[in-house]
Amino acid sequence: AANRDILVYIDGELLHRDAAKVSVFDSSVQGGDAVWEGLRVYRGKVFTLEAHLDRLFDSAHAMLFRGIPSREEVTRAIYRTLEANDMTDGVHIRLTLTRGRKITSGMDPRLNQEGCTLIVLAEHKPPVYPASIRLITTSVRRNSPMSVDSKIHHNNLINNIFAKIEANNAGADAGLMLDKDGYVAEANGVNVFCIRRGTVYTPYADYCLPGITRATVMRLCRENGIPCEERRLSLTEFYTADEVFTTGTMGELTRVDHIDGREIVNKHGRSVLDRLQELFRALTEQ
Ligand code: PMP
Repeated sequence: AANRDILVYIDGELLHRDAAKVSVFDSSVQGGDAVWEGLRVYRGKVFTLEAHLDRLFDSAHAMLFRGIPSREEVTRAIYRTLEANDMTDGVHIRLTLTRGRKITSGMDPRLNQEGCTLIVLAEHKPPVYPASIRLITTSVRRNSPMSVDSKIHHNNLINNIFAKIEANNAGADAGLMLDKDGYVAEANGVNVFCIRRGTVYTPYADYCLPGITRATVMRLCRENGIPCEERRLSLTEFYTADEVFTTGTMGELTRVDHIDGREIVNKHGRSVLDRLQELFRALTEQ
């Protein structure tokens, strides 16, 4: 189906996008009380589905959801949605699992007596993006694990939305967020990497989402003899890196050409990012 006519899965039903609605009593409306995954479909297969489902169910468990659908049920819902829309490639899925409908308005999870709401929203969004993007550092910091653990992929995205607004106002593509100590955490919807003298670095997953694409890149490095390290990284280490890139299911591996007006200049020869992008492409074509 074309995006304007897609069918959206909600709790076992496939409804035209205009008819697909959640209740005003749903926890996602009442408190952003939901978890989600962004998924990509390549050649009819959901890429790294098991890792995404692990993160979804871990997040739902950590948030003490009740009546969580089984892994089989979620997998079936995803493939049913793809089939109903005749979608095989260039597709992005937004999978949402909310705490479900409440018996009355409010944030108390005891008001939830029906179990979770499962939504599968699949749209044609081929991975075609600019060759490189610009970042600015935002004044808003990445949520600290002292308030919300970044291992939970929850729907409370206000922190990230503020960062994106700052980036938009500055004419940048995305907002780079620092942790409470001023080290680089991640961008508003993607993880970040820098490459210095042939070594690939990314911040510890303390202040960033443990991205599945991030994990895939680290695995590709390991398997291909490319040195890769997680560590604390300062903004200056990003400004002066040979290459910088972001990772995420939506945009895959995207080159960053400027951060806060500093051009990212490769001073040490061959591009490691080009190689990683080729290796990633090969994985999606398997
Ligand atoms: N960080 C944030 C804040 C995100 O929302 C996302 C995308 N869900 C990512 C990073 C990238 O994660 P993944 O590679 O699993 O898509």
